[in-house]
Amino acid sequence: MSRDPDIDDLVEQIRPLAEQLTALKAQMKSLGLFTHDRELLQCPRCGLMEDVTHEGYLITCREPDLGIDTGLRFEPITEESYRCPSCGQTVQEPLSEGEKQEGLSA
Ligand SMILES: [Zn+2]
Repeated sequence: MSRDPDIDDLVEQIRPLAEQLTALKAQMKSLGLFTHDRELLQCPRCGLMEDVTHEGYLITCREPDLGIDTGLRFEPITEESYRCPSCGQTVQEPLSEGEKQEGLSA
């Protein structure tokens, strides 16, 4: 006899965890923490780039002052495009490593 756990039971057990995770991510974002659910942005025009501090805070910086927060934040326009707060350039979210590989095999 199979003693595999019932999948529906597992889903029911996981559901509240998933809801907690979503709430936790929203809370982290409101605190200025980066939740790693997208790639970091960099403006091709003025060089403003996002970075994450050792404490996990999302900042923007620019050479040669890498790691020093400018206080500016990219403004989301759509799911995948953002407006540079420094020069107004529209910046597309870079492809993640997984998405790049999917693109190569397609
Ligand atoms: Zn810019």
